[in-house]
Amino acid sequence: MTTRALHWFRRDLRIDDNRALHDACRAAADGVVGVYVLSPGEWEAHDDAPVKVDFWLRNLAELSSALGRLNIPLIVTRAAAAGDVPGALNDVANAAGCDALYYNREYEVNEARRDARVMALFEKRGRTVHPRDDRCVLPPGEVVTKDGGFYTVFTPFQNRFIEALEGHDWAPRGTPKRQKAIDVESSEIPGSVEGFASAIDPALWPAGERAARQRLDTFLEERAGAYGEHRDVPAIDGTSTLSPYLNSGVVSPRVCLAAAMEADSGKIRVGKRASGKPTGFGKWISELIWREFYIHITHNFPRVSMGRAFKPVDRGVAWREDEGDFEAWREGRTGYPFVDAGMRQLRDVGWMHNRVRMVVAMFLTKDLLIDWRWGERHFMRHLVDGDLGSNNGGWQWSASTGTDAAPYFRVYNPTTQGERYDPEGAYIRRWVPELRDVTGKATHEPSRIPSLLRSQLDYPEPIVDHKAARERVLEVFKAAGDGTSGRA
Ligand code: FAD
Repeated sequence: MTTRALHWFRRDLRIDDNRALHDACRAAADGVVGVYVLSPGEWEAHDDAPVKVDFWLRNLAELSSALGRLNIPLIVTRAAAAGDVPGALNDVANAAGCDALYYNREYEVNEARRDARVMALFEKRGRTVHPRDDRCVLPPGEVVTKDGGFYTVFTPFQNRFIEALEGHDWAPRGTPKRQKAIDVESSEIPGSVEGFASAIDPALWPAGERAARQRLDTFLEERAGAYGEHRDVPAIDGTSTLSPYLNSGVVSPRVCLAAAMEADSGKIRVGKRASGKPTGFGKWISELIWREFYIHITHNFPRVSMGRAFKPVDRGVAWREDEGDFEAWREGRTGYPFVDAGMRQLRDVGWMHNRVRMVVAMFLTKDLLIDWRWGERHFMRHLVDGDLGSNNGGWQWSASTGTDAAPYFRVYNPTTQGERYDPEGAYIRRWVPELRDVTGKATHEPSRIPSLLRSQLDYPEPIVDHKAARERVLEVFKAAGDGTSGRA
């Protein structure tokens, strides 16, 4: 029997529908204590962005107040590196008199190893350890093929996921009951952590469960109906912008799914089992399922957490290590306005629209033939929603090295992508001020601007010729074959 439980918060910064917290609160006879470990060494090793760390800290402050209302003190401790985490947690458990540890599982390799060390230490000290699955609607292992194998293609995964929902208890669990008051003090929540100062306006990403719920409700009421038409147009606020909240666990994926189904008469109108055309709500649910798909891939194929590609073709591709081209891409100075707009949106707000993420990723890996790992890392260092599974999945999709990836011969034309998805050029003008007075086709192709005028704009010429770059990458991928006879 648990007398006093310690709940270790990680990427589950909420009290609503938090599986492990809920169970801790049900089991504890003598109160619950929350703990959060500030772990700058781990954050650095995982390229966690300052904007994301700032978001975590602000959410921790909100969480501490919410927990206070439940009589659950939140202790913040510190570990210089991952190896120090077990000891730091053990000290907190000793000081607060806790005999059981609860946490929600993380599925990446380093995190799983760290948790195994924590579990070993706690059990050695005679405490019980209770990991729970919370990060997904259906945890890894619940969506498998008939013979127990793992899906590597999205559509069959989605079909099976929708079937499996019926037999699984995934309904959101609400907020736990108020606990017995105990004599343990909450910590001050630091406003910043050295090495992770963010220059991005915190008002863009308001903290707290209420802010997340408001975003979800507003999206479902006002925008989800038209999601199918608007989700690919970056000049329109057509998506939910909930990704930071989902990834830091400020809102639960089950709450998002249940709310979207309710808004669409209780149904999921996507996939094989959906009747009729997918609705905007259905399409949005499909995106939530993409998130689950990539988390399952991370768990089922640990090599993707270890810098290795899903497909062996990657080993045969002679990626270019061109620092100059990489810098132009990072700075948003490639001379391709749609690409540059995306890279500057990332730099300025810590988030980028999905359509543009695909275009800039394909530009880096196909037009510039630069290793997707460089792009993956740059994204992680700047995204407020940076998440290993979705980021790695998106990068390897674009580079044609991933599970269910774009075929290698799909090479987006960065100019026509802009013309198609930003026909008025509004997105480009918003993020590339050098082009703010340019209109029509020239917004997408500045070479059309009369040369005298062009020479007065501080905007670069294209750093690569798309047609030639396309031929180059096709040749490189053809030569790579299936990767088994290429570079080691
Ligand atoms: P919405 O359109 O409102 O979708 C709802 C939710 O579904 C999102 O919040 C997200 O949790 C999930 N989702 C949507 N699209 C995808 C997708 N393609 N893959 C997985 N989940 C999805 N997403 C991240 O959360 N973190 C990342 O680090 C990340 N890196 C990416 C890198 C690349 C190269 C690419 C192409 C995509 C990446 N994505 C990532 C996926 C996607 O771009 C974002 O999830 C989406 O833009 C978030 O905006 P939103 O919340 O408004 O999404």
